[in-house]
Amino acid sequence: MDRNKVRVRFAPSPTGALHIGGAHTALFNYLYARHMGGTFILRIEDTDGQRSTKEYEQTIMDGLRWLGLDWDEGPDKGGSYGPYRQSERMENYRKYAEQLLDEGKAYESDGAILFRVEPGKLIQFHDEVYGDIKVMSEKASVNMDNTIKDIVIMKKDGLPTYNYAVVIDDHLMDISMVIRGEDHVINTPKQLLIFDALGFERPSFAHLPMILGQDKKKLSKRHGATSVFEYCDMGYLPDGIFNFLALLGWTPRDGKEVFTRQHAEEIFEINQVTKKSAVFDFKKLDHINQEQMKLMTGHDLYDAIAPFWKKMGLPVESFEREHLENCLVAMGGRGSTTIQLAEYSDYFLDFNCVKSRYDGKDITEELRPKLKAIYNELLEKWGQGTHDHLYNTAVEVFAAHESNMKEAATPMRWALTGRKVSPGLFEVAALLGKEEVANRLKFYGLL
Ligand code: GLU
Repeated sequence: MDRNKVRVRFAPSPTGALHIGGAHTALFNYLYARHMGGTFILRIEDTDGQRSTKEYEQTIMDGLRWLGLDWDEGPDKGGSYGPYRQSERMENYRKYAEQLLDEGKAYESDGAILFRVEPGKLIQFHDEVYGDIKVMSEKASVNMDNTIKDIVIMKKDGLPTYNYAVVIDDHLMDISMVIRGEDHVINTPKQLLIFDALGFERPSFAHLPMILGQDKKKLSKRHGATSVFEYCDMGYLPDGIFNFLALLGWTPRDGKEVFTRQHAEEIFEINQVTKKSAVFDFKKLDHINQEQMKLMTGHDLYDAIAPFWKKMGLPVESFEREHLENCLVAMGGRGSTTIQLAEYSDYFLDFNCVKSRYDGKDITEELRPKLKAIYNELLEKWGQGTHDHLYNTAVEVFAAHESNMKEAATPMRWALTGRKVSPGLFEVAALLGKEEVANRLKFYGLL
């Protein structure tokens, strides 16, 4: 085995969608592989025939792709270490079980094959995150009453167990480092006994910290969304989730919490991962997601927002794409999720959204004639309707009518957007165009 070759794997069991914990593990494998110029492998651990399905395998792959965690070898991609589904690798498990039986290191009982755990062996390994770990073999696999428990490697149905199959595959696939969740630290000594018994070279290990909910309990369904696609539906971007997950257990050495994938790939170091449990904080996710949206071009923003506009029933197709891209850029980083940004910008697509939240009843009859005069003049002097022109003209017109931004701009903002806050009013006006601005002001009796 070429020890200089970095090969890591993400090994999900297809018994559910890609959840946050799995995505976190996949991400760290991916970052490490990319940083080292190594190979990232997807291995499907589907030996639990009862619970594994092809549909879940598909959703897991879709989830990884959505997050942009592309693998180099896997069931769909192939590679020279395949097959990449455990259910297609049965002869390997049988072959090594035979070897262990022949060497007296395993025995048959009740139709199952068990690996014999010899007492008195010190199992030591270095974990890149947890440090040096030492366990006596008699403590590595125990029954309820603390007596040694031999390890079942092949069940009586002929299928291998996780702790056994993982060793055979990690060896045959030349895995150089096993990066997985901390819940597997406890399995590692058992796996090492099998590695050693078969004379396989051991990989290195890095166990990732546990992810906790805000109540400091292990993250689970109780904490809400677990599958990555639920996060998509909630308005989080792949880049937002990527950035946020990377921070669960890792702090970049430059201390900057908002980064691009490329930057993370460049500076990621596995030994900077901490073992301290990481808390899944939605406020932080919102912040990171918003910062990631700020880094996006109008083109990418459009792709992220248009589906949500469509879901809201807004007439996306009636506009030129480029125009809507400009509207999104004008939003200037408002909104922490794509859903929020889609909602905050709804007035660019449909005046009905404005009407449904603003009735214009706050405009006093004393003020109305003055506002009408101002807006009429502003529309007469519309010119090319650029932001700068409209802004400068408004300043002059407001002053000429002894008014000011607060008095004259506020009602106009409400009439155009139905909101108290929006991007610069004249930017909005410029994007809506003269006709639409006139239409909206007229509706509220302001023209
Ligand atoms: N199939 C195991 C799991 O999903 C893989 C654990 C490992 O990476 O060894 O937990």
